[in-house]
Amino acid sequence: MIRLFCGLALPAQLRDRLISLGGGLPGARWVPEDNLHLTLRFIGEVPEPSFDDIAVALSAVKAAPFDLTVAGMGHFERKRRPTMVWAGIEPSPRLLDLHVRIESALRRAGVEGEERQFQPHITLARFDASASPERVAGFLQANSLFRAPPFRVEHFTLFSSMLGRSGPTYHAEVEFPLAAALAPDRF
Ligand code: ATP
Ligand code: MG
Repeated sequence: MIRLFCGLALPAQLRDRLISLGGGLPGARWVPEDNLHLTLRFIGEVPEPSFDDIAVALSAVKAAPFDLTVAGMGHFERKRRPTMVWAGIEPSPRLLDLHVRIESALRRAGVEGEERQFQPHITLARFDASASPERVAGFLQANSLFRAPPFRVEHFTLFSSMLGRSGPTYHAEVEFPLAAALAPDRF
């Protein structure tokens, strides 16, 4: 089996800025700089022979490049305890459109549908039970005005993920370029 997800890699400058927010929260495991990404669609474990079908289906996704802005902070929680903090994404119809196109490509490739709603975010840190909800709230408040310059999305990536004791290792398996629509044929 191979564990896969579609996502956006982030420019080094943006990752630098996100990393600089880290630290100072008990019970937090910060995402290492190399691992920072935006998940477009988690695929999960699939049999290895499915990899090619998935890659072929994704290569049919057509979308033009667009700009995306990372801004704001938020968190997810379970049983009223924070489980992670994330950087937000400014509303982007183009991103949602890309997500929809990826979703239908994956369905065509036989990947099971995703029920959860797409909530674009960049995970910054995950918490264990020792995290203090007050400290997490303080972090969110202190960084609520975070805003990075827009970056251009020119491809999306099919990543594999190997879970390990010291955290996951992601590997960019295939990059799918986003191409501006071809100019109308002159003839
Ligand atoms: P770990 O599971 O060890 O904490 P991870 O969550 O970063 O590490 P994966 O579980 O392989 O690694 O997930 C890869 C990406 O997909 C991450 O961005 C993760 O947040 C996201 N993801 C994982 N499971 C789901 C899911 N069920 N629905 C949506 N996104 C998911
Ligand atoms: Mg996970």
